[in-house]
Amino acid sequence: MRYSKALIPSLREVPKEAVNPSHVLLLRAGYIRMVGAGIYEMLPLGKRVLEKLSRIVREEMDAAGAQEVLLPALLPSDYFRETGRYDTFGDTLFRLTDRKGQECHLGPTHEEIITDLVRRDVKSYKQLPLNLYQIQSKFRDEPRPRAGLLRCREFIMKDAYSFDVDEAAAVTSYETMREAYHRIFRRLGLDYRVVQADSGAMGGSTSAEFQVLTQTGEDRLVACDRCDYAANVEVAEARFVPAERVESTNAITKIATPGKGGIDDVVAFLGGDVTAKRMLKSLLFVADGEVVMAVVRGDREVNEIGVARALGAADIRLATEQEVREATSAAVGFAGPVGFKGRIVIDREATQVVDAITGANETDAHLGNVNFGRDFQAEVAAIRLVEAGDGCPRCEGTLESYRGIEGGHIFILGTHYSEKMHATFLDADGKAKPFVMGCYGIGVSRLMATAVEQHHDENGIRWPMSIAPYQVIVTPLGKDAAVQEAAEGIYGELRAAGIDVLLDDRDERPGVKFKDADLLGIPLRITVGGRGLERGVVELKARTEAQAREVEKGSVVAETKASIEAALVR
Ligand SMILES: [Zn+2]
Repeated sequence: MRYSKALIPSLREVPKEAVNPSHVLLLRAGYIRMVGAGIYEMLPLGKRVLEKLSRIVREEMDAAGAQEVLLPALLPSDYFRETGRYDTFGDTLFRLTDRKGQECHLGPTHEEIITDLVRRDVKSYKQLPLNLYQIQSKFRDEPRPRAGLLRCREFIMKDAYSFDVDEAAAVTSYETMREAYHRIFRRLGLDYRVVQADSGAMGGSTSAEFQVLTQTGEDRLVACDRCDYAANVEVAEARFVPAERVESTNAITKIATPGKGGIDDVVAFLGGDVTAKRMLKSLLFVADGEVVMAVVRGDREVNEIGVARALGAADIRLATEQEVREATSAAVGFAGPVGFKGRIVIDREATQVVDAITGANETDAHLGNVNFGRDFQAEVAAIRLVEAGDGCPRCEGTLESYRGIEGGHIFILGTHYSEKMHATFLDADGKAKPFVMGCYGIGVSRLMATAVEQHHDENGIRWPMSIAPYQVIVTPLGKDAAVQEAAEGIYGELRAAGIDVLLDDRDERPGVKFKDADLLGIPLRITVGGRGLERGVVELKARTEAQAREVEKGSVVAETKASIEAALVR
C-alpha cells in the first residue's frame, strides 16, 4: 500500500475523555473513530489488525476441531424468554420491536440461539462432541462505555459453544479449548496469565480467564514468580502456615482511646510494642440484608468478595455509619468481636494473634488481651486481601501483583441451558439426555486495544508482528530519483514475497515520516537514503529497538523476511 493513497487520518488532538493508551493511540494513529458512545468505526488500518487477529483465532479454532457458523445478531426474543434472560439482562439488552409487534433484541451473547440450533439439528450421541463458533458483533448497552475498544456497546467477539454427552466429555472439550487459547494468545504475542477467576458454583477447574498483563487493566491479579498459579485478587489466597497455638492467661483489659478509631491512630497513640499486627481490624458489612462482622489482622485489608463467599452471601456492601452505630452502640472505628451479637467471620491469620487489641464496641475505647476462641467465637476463612510479596499457596514462590485485561474466558456451562430449553439427544441406550455444554469467548476487538495497552511507548504503538497492519514500512528520504527507484524496487520485491508493506511515498520531511511510522507501530522500517545508497546500503530498524542497522541493499528483502519469521510465534 502507498501511504499517499491510504486513508490514515492521524489526529493531533484526541478528545479529553480518551485516557487509556490504547484509546489515545488508536485514535491518534487513525485506526478507529468514535461514532457514538461506545460505538466505533474501524478505519482501514484497524480493519487490517482485526482481520489478522480473527485469522489467528479462526486457524486455532479450526485446528481444535471447532466449526465456524454465523448466527444472526438480530434475534427474536422468544429464545431469551425460555431461559429467563430476557428479564435478567435488564437494560443491558438492546431491545426493539418489529413492524408486526414482535419483540427482538440485538444479541449480547448467543447461548440460547445456538442451543436452539443444536436441539433442532442434533439428535444422536453419534453426532457428538460438537463445537460451533462464530466471530461476530455483539451488543450490550453498557451503562458507562469507556476506554475506547476496551468497553464498547458494539464489539466483536469470538464465541464458541461445545456440546457433549456427559460431564467427562465436556471436560475434554474444555481442555481442548484451553490448549487452543494458549496457542492463540502466544501467537498474538501477548504476555498473559491463565487466571482462576471464580471458584464459585461451577468449581475452580471448570472456569478460567485469559488475562493480558498491562499497567492499566481493570482486574487486579497476583501471580507466582515460580509456578503458574495466578488468580484475581478477589479469589486469590496466600500461603498460610498455622503457628503453634499459644493460650494466654492474661485477662481482657479496657484501654481508653479517645478519638482514636483507625488502626494507625491507635498504634501511634498507644506506642510501645503495639503494632498493627497485634491488632484486629473489625469491619461491618451488610450481607444479604444481615449486619455481619469481618475480622482481619490490623495490618491487612478485608477482601469483601471473600467475605461474601465465606458467608455464602449473594449480595454484600459495607455497613453505613448509622448501621455501625446500631450494631455496636459505638462510633465507627470502635467495633470489635467481643460481645458482638451478629455473625462474625475471621481470617485464618487473625486467629493466631495472641492478646490482641480490638475495638470495645464502645466509643473511645479498645480492649486489650483479646484471644480468639477464648473471648469470642467466629467462622474461620481466608478473607484477607492478598498482597504482592505474600507466599504462593501452591509452592515456595512469592506472589507478584499485576493489572490485567480479560481477553478470553472459558467455562463449562453444564446442562443449565440445555435443561431450560429441553435440548436433548438420544444416548447409546436410547434415553433422552440434556447436552452438557461449554462456552468459550474471546474479545476480538478488545484484544486489539489490549495489545496496544501492552505494546506501546511514548512515541506510539509497537504492534506484535502477527497482528501489525503492515509488517514493514519502506521510508525513502528526499526526492532523489535513485532513492525513489531503490525504494520502489524494495517495495515491489517485498510485496512479491508476500509481505505486508507500506511505502511512505508522501512528500514529507524525514522527521515527519519517522514520527508517523513510530505512531502507527509498524514493526520494521527500511530507510532508503541518498548517502547510504552511494555505499550500497539501506537501514533496517525494528520498532522495539533504538538503533537501526545498515544492510546491503541487495539482501534487505531476505533480512526482512528473516526478521519477520523470527518475530512470529508458531
Ligand atoms: Zn507458586
